[in-house]
Amino acid sequence: MAVKIGLDPGHGGRDPGAVGPGGLQEKEVTLAVAGYLKEILVKAGFTVVVTRSGDQDVSLARRVEYLEAEKVELVLSLHLNSASTPEANYISSYILAPGGRAEKAAALLQKRLVEATGWPDGGVREANFYILRETSAPAVLVEMGFISNPEQEKALGQEVTQKLLAAALARGLAEFFGVELDAGNFPDIKGHWAEGAIRRVIAAGLMGGYPDGTFRPDQYLKRAELAMVLVKLLDRLPGGS
Ligand SMILES: [Zn+2]
Repeated sequence: MAVKIGLDPGHGGRDPGAVGPGGLQEKEVTLAVAGYLKEILVKAGFTVVVTRSGDQDVSLARRVEYLEAEKVELVLSLHLNSASTPEANYISSYILAPGGRAEKAAALLQKRLVEATGWPDGGVREANFYILRETSAPAVLVEMGFISNPEQEKALGQEVTQKLLAAALARGLAEFFGVELDAGNFPDIKGHWAEGAIRRVIAAGLMGGYPDGTFRPDQYLKRAELAMVLVKLLDRLPGGS
């Protein structure tokens, strides 16, 4: 039986969530990351339900009701942080209480988010949030950086960062449930001497395959193609441009 995960993109509709100095709205980013994450998880064999799939108003009570009815095995609520000082820039994950499965899941998600973004590690914290308290499955709420930080707002508005966050969360969830993530089902990388490295760059969204479903690991790379890969990396460096 497939593991069923409940994704909860924070805010929506009339509730934009936090808004960055450049006008980016939290609700847009949480929805985008949830979409990319769902795609990866479904490919890896998970069943995924979402509390909203568009720009809708969904009350916290309705979200919980839905997740309970769906009997999900884990709740992952997606949010961005905000502070009155523009400097705040860490990633943090929230659970209701330590010692349970939620804490284990949060530790893995937190580790992968920090690793993928290079943003400071704010650690796993406790909070009495409604979505954590009222759901019976282990529940984790991630604050994926600060929309109030101009550099992070810029990054969070970019598809490359949203995909990177989704890939990091997918890795954490796959580890938690002991599921192999399918980093692109390329038959021609199996057993290749660089298979591990290739899987990492695919999972991080840095490289992809050909439309015919191959990766062609021994194909030559043009300098322009290398530049495209390096730019994706540069975009992810803190303060990168
Ligand atoms: Zn929020």
